[in-house]
Amino acid sequence: MFHQPVLKNRRTLLERAEKFISEVYFTDCNLRGRLFGDSHPLASISLFLSPKRIPFEEASKQNFAPYKVGDTFGPTWWTGWFRVSLSLPAAWRGKEVHLLWESDGEALVWRDGQPVQGLTKEGEKTSYILTESLKEEEPHRVTLYVELACNGLFGAGHGSMIAAPDPGRRFSVQKAELVVFRRDVMDLLTDFEMLVDIVKNLGEGEQRSFQALFTVNEMVNVCDPADPGSFPKTRSLAATFFSQRNGQSQHTVHAMGHCHIDSAWLWPYEETIRKCGRSWVTVIRLMEKNPDFVFTCSQAQQFDWVKRWYPGLFSQIQSYVQKGRFVPVGGTWVEMDGNLPSGESMVRQFLQGQRFFQQEFGVHCKELWLPDTFGYSAQLPQIMRGSGISRFLTQKLSWNLVNTFPHNTFFWEGLDGSQVLTHFPPGNSYEMKGKIEDLLNTVRNNRDKGRANHSMVLFGFGDGGGGPTQLMLDRLQRVRDTDGLPRVQMSDPDMLFSQLEAESALLCTWSGEMFLELHNGTYTTQAQIKRGNRHCEMLLRDVEVASSLALSQDGAFRFQEEKLQELWRLLLLNQFHDVIPGSCIEMVVEDALRHYEEIRGAGTSLLLDALRSLGSSGREPDSSAVFNSLPWQRHEVIERQDVAGQPELALVTVPSAGVALATEAKPEIPVSVTVQADGSVVMDNGIIRTTVNSDGSLASLGLVAGGREAISDGCHGNRFVMFDDVPLYWDSWDVMDYHLQTRKPVEQVTEPLEVVSLGGVRGSVRCSLRISDRSSIEQEIVLDAASPYVKFSTKVVWAESHKFLKVEFPVRVRSPNATFEIQFGHLQRPTHRNTSWDWARFEVWGHKWADLSEHNFGVALLNDCKYGYSVQKNVMTLSLLRAPKAPDANADMGTHHFTYAVMPHAGSFQDAGVIRSAYNLNSPLRIFQSSADLEPWSAFSVDAAAVVLETVKQAEDMKAALVVRLYESHGSSVTATLRTALPVRAALYCDLLERPSTLDPPEMGPDGISLSFSPFQILTLLLTLRS
Ligand SMILES: [Zn+2]
Repeated sequence: MFHQPVLKNRRTLLERAEKFISEVYFTDCNLRGRLFGDSHPLASISLFLSPKRIPFEEASKQNFAPYKVGDTFGPTWWTGWFRVSLSLPAAWRGKEVHLLWESDGEALVWRDGQPVQGLTKEGEKTSYILTESLKEEEPHRVTLYVELACNGLFGAGHGSMIAAPDPGRRFSVQKAELVVFRRDVMDLLTDFEMLVDIVKNLGEGEQRSFQALFTVNEMVNVCDPADPGSFPKTRSLAATFFSQRNGQSQHTVHAMGHCHIDSAWLWPYEETIRKCGRSWVTVIRLMEKNPDFVFTCSQAQQFDWVKRWYPGLFSQIQSYVQKGRFVPVGGTWVEMDGNLPSGESMVRQFLQGQRFFQQEFGVHCKELWLPDTFGYSAQLPQIMRGSGISRFLTQKLSWNLVNTFPHNTFFWEGLDGSQVLTHFPPGNSYEMKGKIEDLLNTVRNNRDKGRANHSMVLFGFGDGGGGPTQLMLDRLQRVRDTDGLPRVQMSDPDMLFSQLEAESALLCTWSGEMFLELHNGTYTTQAQIKRGNRHCEMLLRDVEVASSLALSQDGAFRFQEEKLQELWRLLLLNQFHDVIPGSCIEMVVEDALRHYEEIRGAGTSLLLDALRSLGSSGREPDSSAVFNSLPWQRHEVIERQDVAGQPELALVTVPSAGVALATEAKPEIPVSVTVQADGSVVMDNGIIRTTVNSDGSLASLGLVAGGREAISDGCHGNRFVMFDDVPLYWDSWDVMDYHLQTRKPVEQVTEPLEVVSLGGVRGSVRCSLRISDRSSIEQEIVLDAASPYVKFSTKVVWAESHKFLKVEFPVRVRSPNATFEIQFGHLQRPTHRNTSWDWARFEVWGHKWADLSEHNFGVALLNDCKYGYSVQKNVMTLSLLRAPKAPDANADMGTHHFTYAVMPHAGSFQDAGVIRSAYNLNSPLRIFQSSADLEPWSAFSVDAAAVVLETVKQAEDMKAALVVRLYESHGSSVTATLRTALPVRAALYCDLLERPSTLDPPEMGPDGISLSFSPFQILTLLLTLRS
């Protein structure tokens, strides 16, 4: 084959081939220099600048001023609308003609009033194809519009990607002209690139690498860049190599296009809408040219945005969905955080997502798709299964800082035993480029070699959008079955997972949560977002319970399902995996907080409407009543206004899921408050007794019965501590293990302890501490009559930089494990640091409570809006506030309000009612005006303490039916009776999407509906009401 001797000099041969396609060297004589033929200037180009994101119809009517290529415009977040007039030279007949557009920012080309293609340098898209072969009869004069967003794919970080945005950035167009594009040169360049990469990536240990080397070397010999007549022979050399096939055992890569678009991150929600438009219209163009190209696309919210903003594009997408090529995946409203949303929120992610996909495309997704989310709750498998989903895709655990996750393809078993088939693409990326190294990494990194012979490769620019390119498709096309490389198959998730299911006999099982050993600061960062999420979750719960009760009692009452759907969708949107974790820019924080305000405002008014309906018997509403949405009776102190409008406290009793007049009761045991000689104060309500030091820390906390002390010897509870908090890179995201070495107690008292409430229904004391000249803490420590916990109502003025505030409770309990509430249940994590898996969890997440118990005694820490914890040995710590500076330079600066509580208890936390207490702390009794003849009324109760009635709502598809969701919260097998005062005609089981089950309906007896639960099982019922 080779006529001249080829010397044994691998390096020169390889570098020769590299230089032959170099964009930098020898472009005067190499192949790359021939990619474009003639060029031609545009007829005219003019610009209109808009500070807002406006629709095409509005933009195209504006006054445009002449624009000269190279001129700058801006600033950041503005939009430049370009009107581009061009005239195709008649002499270019038969040629492929492109508009070459090299600019900063992210651009979208509009033609005839429709978006046609995205253009970004960062996404390797600088060409818009005007014609593949210019014909005489096609219009030669064309006017296009280019909508150019003044931000990059990754926002506009000042100096580095995750720095706060630079508001004053300037933008320019560097090149805008017509060019003849040489497709034959491009095809050859792709052949060369793939062969060069095979040489480099297979390396000197593989003979296939040398075969590629000699092939590409001979191609350089044969190819004359100036003579296209030499190209076919050169291509055939490459084709011979690529067509040498694999044996049957070779690994198969399932390649599918993808474009990860963060719903908000380094840019605001509004820009994401345009990112979707730009990215997806480009995908449609690629689909037109590449008949086997399949694209996977998640997040119902983004489809909904595109439907509203780009209806023409949306109907094109719908038709490609029908063809199975534009594949909706994930089944959720957004790619949510996997840790912080409540159980019910996660259910709603699927309910809203799957229903949207069903309505718009007639499909339910079969897989959960969270490639970029920061850890995965142990309850997700059950929630997925209940939502019609049995498969899961992510890759994020490849980011673990300490331990390497042992599997790529495996069964994931959840808290209740539910299993889902899980795949982590072994290439450890959701934005591969179809390159040789992506394919080889996929094979080499696979930790289930011999067990799973199929893997996923997702290709396309991601995070900020962009998506696949023609080049990526061409690369993959070359090596579909090339000896030495994995077999490449254009595929979709269903094909991959079906294949994995069919050959699953050797797969391993991972049980419990999948904890990400990184980004552990996201349980705490942006405290206002966390607070908004928790409060709004509880508020929407209350609205739905109250509205359901009103619906069943009052034929005229209307359940506001449309408004509620709108509010839920706002809440779900903010649970996106860069918003609720707090890893977004300040603009996003402002949007998110506005969404919470809207939910609070509209939600409160919906709640009051429902309560008014429950409290009216046609008579004047002249009394105050109380609503309890929780499924157990409550006996609690409420804060209300007296007739003169002054705040007053009252101890009231309200039945489970019901209402009662706010009749004041005398406490059986009034709270006593005693000031001691040293300034400390003893508070005692007959259940617990605590001694508060003059600095607000607890010297003692114990149970009155039995006198058991909860605070560790020689230590104080409620101790505030500060840490230096400087991560390695991901500022808002990460708190590192070494921060623990910088612990400093906050001890400087500015206002010593004073008594606020003297006892009776409430005892309380207050004191203030200085954190620094800029930051301070003010706290009221409250012990109510009949309450099993001491409550800490806290205000922090916070103006720190890279500091972390926590509160500690060293307790007199010894146990190897602590317990943390998660979605619809709880789990244990170690309190010791034996193995790397243990110490990697130095900062963990939990929901409303955490507990440390030994046999017969324990202490629980409750909170109303926090998610970060750590329990090491006997010290329970709640994470309160961080102060990262990127990507939001003002993250968490300002005033914060939050409440936590400590609850010592006898027995187990289950028997002591810790779970109920945490719900009570989070779900305030709601006071409303009612007529004086309101009888105490309970709509629901459950006779088993382990079972929590979480949700009551109107059924999505049946106006006269309620959906009732319960779960087993203790980790026990139990039977329970759900009693109801509602006029229930029939009860059926249904799944989380509210589809009736084929199981026999539950038994309805005179006492109620009999149900049996296994540990942490979620049961959903459809109750049809008598009209
Ligand atoms: Zn992401």
